[in-house]
Amino acid sequence: MALQRHDEVVLLLGAPGAGKGTQARYLATVLGVPHVASGDLLRENRQRGTDLGRAAEAYMDRGELVPDDLVVDMIARRLDAPDAVRGALLDGFPRTLGQFSALEDRLVERGGRVRNAIYVEVPTKVLVERLAGRWMCRTCHTTYHEEFNPPSSEGVCDVCSGELFQRPDDRRDVVANRVNVYLRDTLPVVKRFEQRGLLRRIDGNRPIQVVRAALHQALGLSEGVRA
Ligand SMILES: [Zn+2]
Repeated sequence: MALQRHDEVVLLLGAPGAGKGTQARYLATVLGVPHVASGDLLRENRQRGTDLGRAAEAYMDRGELVPDDLVVDMIARRLDAPDAVRGALLDGFPRTLGQFSALEDRLVERGGRVRNAIYVEVPTKVLVERLAGRWMCRTCHTTYHEEFNPPSSEGVCDVCSGELFQRPDDRRDVVANRVNVYLRDTLPVVKRFEQRGLLRRIDGNRPIQVVRAALHQALGLSEGVRA
């Protein structure tokens, strides 16, 4: 059950720390469609100096958010590319109900649709633990995790004996806020897809291979496909 035409998309949703990026790249390979993340699209369009990239930059220069319609324009253009003939996997978009509506309107205009949406679900407490426990060496930039990959001696790099520090983004309160903002904005999107019978929930609090198998099943793909 592969995707069809340029206008069918599969959405992968999940909070920061849910491991969504890794799974998204894998799934895109399995489906034979491009992996499209809105942040990457924005960066690419700015770097290439496209009309859409320049328009986005004008908003950013004024300190304003890039409007949802403009991001959706970038997605629509990406869907026109030859490698998207079988559709695309959208990673982390839409994040809000506003983005959801903008995306859906555009797809409908093109005779397309969201084929299904997958929500990688991980308990909030686990998300915060995963994201907040990261430490980095000041000297050689090796990364550690308090729980999953601790250094042999607290605060000291195993590789070079350098001092370990925590980036401001990885502080517990900052991380908890990031996760909460995501859930506040995006759970309504998840509910909307659920009401339409398009949502599959995947328990992301399991080993990566088990999550992959669940993704296969959710998309009706045969087991044993290897990227
Ligand atoms: Zn080091």
